[in-house]
Amino acid sequence: MLPWAALAAPAADCAGAQHVRLREPVIVSTDERAELSALPPLRVVVLDAPPMTRFDPDRNVYTGVGIDTWCFIAAQLGLHYEIDPAPGWTVAEKIAGVQEHRADVMIPLSLRPDRALRGLFTQPYYKSHYAVIARKGVQPQIHQMADLARYRVGVMHGVAFEPMLRDMVPTDRLRTYDQSSSDGLFKALRAGEIDVAVFNQSIFAEKRYSHEYFDLEVVLVLHEYPRAYRFYVSDTSEHRQLVRVFDRYLAALDVSASIARHEEGEVQLIERYVAQRSQRTLLQVASVVAVLLALVCVLALRRYRRLSHLLAERNQHILRQQEALQAANQELERQSQTDGLTHLANRRHFDQALAREHARWRRTGSPLSLMMLDVDYFKRVNDLYGHQVGDDCLRAIAQVLRDNVARSADLAARYGGEEFACLLPETDSESARIVAERIRTAVARPELLNTQGDRPRVTLSIGIATLAGGRADASELLAAADAQLYAAKQAGRDRVHAVVLN
Ligand code: GH3
Ligand code: MG
Ligand code: MG
Repeated sequence: MLPWAALAAPAADCAGAQHVRLREPVIVSTDERAELSALPPLRVVVLDAPPMTRFDPDRNVYTGVGIDTWCFIAAQLGLHYEIDPAPGWTVAEKIAGVQEHRADVMIPLSLRPDRALRGLFTQPYYKSHYAVIARKGVQPQIHQMADLARYRVGVMHGVAFEPMLRDMVPTDRLRTYDQSSSDGLFKALRAGEIDVAVFNQSIFAEKRYSHEYFDLEVVLVLHEYPRAYRFYVSDTSEHRQLVRVFDRYLAALDVSASIARHEEGEVQLIERYVAQRSQRTLLQVASVVAVLLALVCVLALRRYRRLSHLLAERNQHILRQQEALQAANQELERQSQTDGLTHLANRRHFDQALAREHARWRRTGSPLSLMMLDVDYFKRVNDLYGHQVGDDCLRAIAQVLRDNVARSADLAARYGGEEFACLLPETDSESARIVAERIRTAVARPELLNTQGDRPRVTLSIGIATLAGGRADASELLAAADAQLYAAKQAGRDRVHAVVLN
């Protein structure tokens, strides 16, 4: 049980008190009035039991016939009070609160002898009836109260009607539900645990909408058992006087306008419910659409990311392949232009360079020298020392050429077998001869091969042809150099022969 005033207390909406009027004047003595208005503020607990009392959670106020009536009489008597300062209490706790003097007044409550023993009841201000409620479509054969005996009946424990039902329905068929709300009772009815529920007609009318009990319906209204609602007051001598004065008012009051207004509340509730439901449906549809959209977006984004990631990876891959291909091509190109043994330019490379330099010579007229070199008696080297040493000699000669034919436009090549060729642009015959002599001397050195022991001595015969003028083409230049080489061989080898073409 919650302590008194633990939660924010609701208020009574007294605006409806204007619909309550006195049919005749009520006499209240000055003494009575003085004593009642001097009472400490009355602690009033209220049920949510429309149309007597209805709690509006939005405004945190109570309205209803009971509230209109209370407000009217309290204003007439100048009573001080506070409404429901313990809103967490259950119905049973509220009743007990009045009986144990923790609360002073309860709105509303119906009279039962045991309650009358432990508290004071005023005259009633509103009457409604019990109704027999069943699941739709079940259609129990209940035309009068006695027919209930054949069915499994549920009722809220402690309501005024419970003892009457006990007289009528066999114990094994009567089930009571003793929760603070009627949820358990209606849950059992909907689950088929009981055939019918006996419950206050007007409260059910509201609950049907607020709790969406649309599968339930009233099959019989028990008109012979009206249910009258009253104020329940804790039993003290001051309160006895309060109840006496209240009864005088209740006898003279006309609350029909208030009743009509609050019963109409049900219609308003339906309208509100329908409006709320369509709003809710709209909201649900909108949120489902939003969620779906978001999902689609997320999926699309993920797919996009995955695809772009894949694309980037593929691009990288292609780029790497391109680079590898380029490198391979370059290597291939280099290899196709290079002699495998000596790593000098090969014959193909030399032919291209010759064509290029010859064309340049045509444009510039600067002398172009071509040198053909052939190893003397190389066959013998191979025969005497083996091919391996022969190859070493060719590599060593290549290195000599590299060292001596070093200008950027110069080109030294292996022309084939043990023959080499050098192209010396912008080099006249004399300069070419100096280079040739340098090469010849370097090759003839005994230490050409960097090996121990018996080393072959190799010499070169060199023929040079230089284009200084005239119109000789590349092949003529080549033939002229070759002829000089042949002449060098003929003249005894290990020498340089040169010619200038004009
Ligand atoms: P000459 O002075 O008349 O040029 O005599 P030669 O023996 O050098 O000429 P010949 O044309 O009779 O022989 C060339 C030799 O060069 C034959 C061959 O075995 C050798 N030769 C050609 N290419 C290579 C090579 O790549 N490696 C080796 N080890 N020997 C080669
Ligand atoms: Mg040869
Ligand atoms: Mg030779």
